[in-house]
Amino acid sequence: MHINDLPQELLSDILLKATKANKAEGVGYTYGLTQNLLPLPSEAPKFTRYVRGPLSAECLRWDATDSIRQTCKQWHDWALSYNFERVFERRWRGSERWADLTLRRPKYNLYELIDKPKGFPLYRDPHGSLKQTDRLFASLPTTAQHVQRLWFNGFYAAETDKLILSVVASCRELQYLSVPWTILRRAGVNDWVNLLNAHTGVGKPLHSLELTAVCLPKDQAHALENDTTPNPLEDARVDFRSLKRLKIFGNTLHKPISDEDLQLMARTATNLECLDITNLSTISVAGMLALVKASAKTLQVLEHSPRSDDGFYHPFPGHLEEGEHVCELLANLPQMRDLSISVPYVCADLFHNHDVKWAGELQVRAIDICGCGSDTNSQVRADKLRRVLEAARAMMALKRRMHQELSVELFFAGCIFHPEKKLVHGDFALAEVASRGRWPFDKQPSTLGPYGQSGRYGKDEGFWDAVSEEDYLLAVTNHWIAL
Ligand SMILES: [Zn+2]
Repeated sequence: MHINDLPQELLSDILLKATKANKAEGVGYTYGLTQNLLPLPSEAPKFTRYVRGPLSAECLRWDATDSIRQTCKQWHDWALSYNFERVFERRWRGSERWADLTLRRPKYNLYELIDKPKGFPLYRDPHGSLKQTDRLFASLPTTAQHVQRLWFNGFYAAETDKLILSVVASCRELQYLSVPWTILRRAGVNDWVNLLNAHTGVGKPLHSLELTAVCLPKDQAHALENDTTPNPLEDARVDFRSLKRLKIFGNTLHKPISDEDLQLMARTATNLECLDITNLSTISVAGMLALVKASAKTLQVLEHSPRSDDGFYHPFPGHLEEGEHVCELLANLPQMRDLSISVPYVCADLFHNHDVKWAGELQVRAIDICGCGSDTNSQVRADKLRRVLEAARAMMALKRRMHQELSVELFFAGCIFHPEKKLVHGDFALAEVASRGRWPFDKQPSTLGPYGQSGRYGKDEGFWDAVSEEDYLLAVTNHWIAL
């Protein structure tokens, strides 16, 4: 029996094993050249070779399938699908000195023998690779049909937005896409219909969308701010119904993604399973909730940590509807399993529904307790806080009885509460002074800091201690700690 007559899965498995073996044996690095500064200008500059670093993952994959691509058409097609399944496009940064380096990397050991390497300064178009990819997919659509993941990084100009959209439009089987947020600002309605690919009848609808944002240099920011393209999300044809995962990451000052954008998405984004809004302060709790409500029946993972860098500081909660109770809303999401949120208020109701599927680590960052205002005194707040911690403990105990793992971490009033261990981590130096040294009765050093598990980020913030929950609440009652 001929090897090509084997079932497709078996043949694919054999080729994959061969590729992995090739990768392990192949060359994994590349060279660069440095130029020695010479005291006399008349002397020719001398180059020194150095190992520039590891090859990119794409190069390694391409090299590893080199021999497979040359065997027969069937193997060639397999290798193309392996190589083009994931395409990463990065902007070329910095100047490059071209080394007279062979493109056949297995011949690198011959290059080692050249004791006087030569090289020339070389300009490289920072968008060159993106342009090439676009040309390749346009001229050979069979290569584009293998692409399932596309990832673009560092491209924020109008020209590159067009190229990105053109590449995306070529890849009809695309499932995972990560693009700069400028795509939302400069692309038209048809571009977005193509990108989400929900009802075009060709290929697959998009499964996961990531929008990343950064602050731009002046000229690029100016160009973006002067762009007058209407918001494509306002058009009913832009349909997010097929999208399962949405991630919005990174802060920007220039036409950032806002609550209004999320509210427009929420009109159709009714089947999201994962929503992740991280590291940005332009979306408020109200914007996040618009999407949570739209996908309430399907949402499994929710991460909303607007400014992880800022530790306990939170963004404006946004314009929440009158009488809206976020705890109740979150506790009644039927499919929710993984929750990490920053909310304006929290109370024991967050833990009242024992039918939730929550598992793993649950993080809640809150500014105050539900129903408390500026005139609420410390004692009332302490009682309500105690109820939150007790409710969290009751839920964890219930999950344990069902042999499920759940741990709760509450970030509140500048401290981190671990209800399972009945411990509170924080900086209690002032409370110690206020109690004239009578408090705390027992303390232990803490490895946590204002930035959570990651500690203090090397900043000089003073050291944290851990005290028992009872001690903490007692200090509140005695006004040594203000809540
Ligand atoms: Zn509440």
